[in-house]
Order: sequence, then C-alpha cells, then structure tokens
Amino acid sequence: MGQDIHTEINSIEQRVAECYKVKGYRCELCKSYCREKGLQLRGPLSFFNIGKDFERDQYKVVFVGKTHWYNKDQVEEIGFLEQSRFRDCRDDGTKMFLTRHSRFWGCIQDITKKLYPEQGSEELPDLLDRIAITNITKCNTSSDYRDTTPYYLTENCLEIFEEEVKALRPKHIIFFTGRDYDLYIDKLTFGYSVPPRDITKRTHKKEIKTRCSLWWWHREFCENNKMQMRFLRTRHPQGAPREIVDEIVKWIRKDKEILV
Ligand SMILES: [Zn+2]
Repeated sequence: MGQDIHTEINSIEQRVAECYKVKGYRCELCKSYCREKGLQLRGPLSFFNIGKDFERDQYKVVFVGKTHWYNKDQVEEIGFLEQSRFRDCRDDGTKMFLTRHSRFWGCIQDITKKLYPEQGSEELPDLLDRIAITNITKCNTSSDYRDTTPYYLTENCLEIFEEEVKALRPKHIIFFTGRDYDLYIDKLTFGYSVPPRDITKRTHKKEIKTRCSLWWWHREFCENNKMQMRFLRTRHPQGAPREIVDEIVKWIRKDKEILV
C-alpha cells in the first residue's frame, strides 16, 4: 500500500467535516489547556472510516473506540481533512482494518464479515463502504497505551463526537469503551428529544456460553414512537472472549425489521 487511498471525500464524510469546522473551537480549548499544563497534545484527529454506502446500509453501524494512540510524529505526517483542523485518518483506518492492526480492528473486521456474508473475504475493502468507525476523544495526551488523557479533553471532544453521530444518523452505535466513558456517553441525546430507554442497565453483564460475561449496556432511542437508534456499550475487544463477535452480530441483526 503506502499510497494515498482516499483522494476524494464522499458526501457524508463532507457533512462530518463540516461539523469539525463548526465545532472545531472545542478542540481549540483542548489545545490551550495542554499548552497551559505543559502536556503534549496529539490531535484533533478525524474519524477512521465512513463508508460511501453507509447511508443506504440496512444496519448502519458505527463502531466507537475511546481514543487514538498516535505519537506526535505520526500525527504530524497526516494531512488535514477538508480545510478543517482535524487530521485525516481515513487512510490509516483502511490500513488498520485490512491488516487487523489490533484486537479492536480484528473484532470489527470479524463482525462485518459475519454481518455481510455475501461479501467474500477477497472483497474486504468493500465491507468498509458500509460501516463507520470513529473515536469519542479526538485529542490525546496518553503514551504507552495507557489512557491518561485528561477528562477535560474528553469533555471537549465529546461535543464533536455527538455532532458526528447526529450527521451520521446510525441505526446501531457500538461503544468498545468498557465502563470508563459511561458517565460521558450517558448524557448524550444525539439530538433526540425523547430520553433513551435502557433495555439493560449500565451495570449489566451478559452471560455467554463459556461462563464468561461481557459488559452489555443496551439502550434505545425513539422519536415519534419509532425506533431510531440502538446503542450498545460493551467491553474493549482487547482480551475479550472470542464470542464477543457473535454476540454483537446477533444483537445487530435482531431488530432489523423494526428499523426502517
Ligand atoms: Zn479535543
């Protein structure tokens, strides 16, 4: 590979890039905070992937991680997305998905392969056309894969993340965030006026067949008595039992006939 993969921007990516321009001032606050505290800021960074067929997809799934792990040099090598101040992570997202860069990426690849069995494994890049992948926290100060980014940054970036989701209007949103971000994501309305309904509580653990369990917080957002978005917060795929893939596929498929 090595070549640029994304030389164009699709219409939905364009809409999200507009959110970054309008709400980008939030991450200016991240920058000034880090300058004041002497912290080395990496970011803000864009989403990793928004497929060109996402809006037409029957499941419309967004996969969400906590934050990125780029170091300063890596960030500075990346160009900006559409005149925004956000670095364009789309090429890296594609590469990490195709190479199963970490358990997070491998898990997303396994879920999408099972969700779209008609797509052969030689057509892996086509799976990316149907899904979206992003992070809650756009700015990061952590190193050594320990999440030490100050909460203040997450609070700022969170507003941008919410706008991103409002632009995407997913039918399914899956947080691979463990429990660390629950208090943040609990507050998010994603623009819906009706409060979400918890199907399982935040503290719920789903029993799976190997006598393991998975954190499994399932909530639903409705508007005008119609289901709009199903929300799942589960554990991070790193170190997760392999059944997490099948459980998530089952969860996504379950209500597809209700979501029109
Ligand atoms: Zn930020």
